[in-house]
Amino acid sequence: MKQYNLEEKIRIKKTLRKSGITLLVIGLLLMVVAMVDLFLSDIPQVFYLFFIGGLFLFIGLVMTFYGYMGAVARYQASEIAPVAKDTINYMLDGTKDSAGKFFEQLKNTPLPSKTCPQCGKELFPDAMYCDNCGCAMFKKCPDCMELNEVSSKFCKSCGNQFRT
Ligand SMILES: [Zn+2]
Ligand SMILES: [Zn+2]
Repeated sequence: MKQYNLEEKIRIKKTLRKSGITLLVIGLLLMVVAMVDLFLSDIPQVFYLFFIGGLFLFIGLVMTFYGYMGAVARYQASEIAPVAKDTINYMLDGTKDSAGKFFEQLKNTPLPSKTCPQCGKELFPDAMYCDNCGCAMFKKCPDCMELNEVSSKFCKSCGNQFRT
């Protein structure tokens, strides 16, 4: 197959479009003439023009189609395809993100995960007192009055070491 450079391609496309449209117009005119002849004359003389017009119209359509097809295909390739790809990626990312967030949230949902050091009852992580034996789940720092986990060795606020 012969390789055309870009300028030649553009020239061919332009010629195709111009001749295609010209042929379309000629075809339509011929068909109109044929139709007019059919309705106005008792004996149609030029009805064969209808078929010639139809042929011109068809060739014109094909040429116009090929003349514009490259541009349309290029437009789709350069404009629509990346957008579609981005959209799909965006949607996939979004799905992944929201699914990830959902599982993250599920993982972080407070579940009974603290046991009372005195009676062994399972307690919620934010429980201040054991709901079974009433013992405190916090340790008050004698220096800064900050409430710390009952098992903590140092105050989370001032770093004071607890003596147990
Ligand atoms: Zn308890
Ligand atoms: Zn403290």
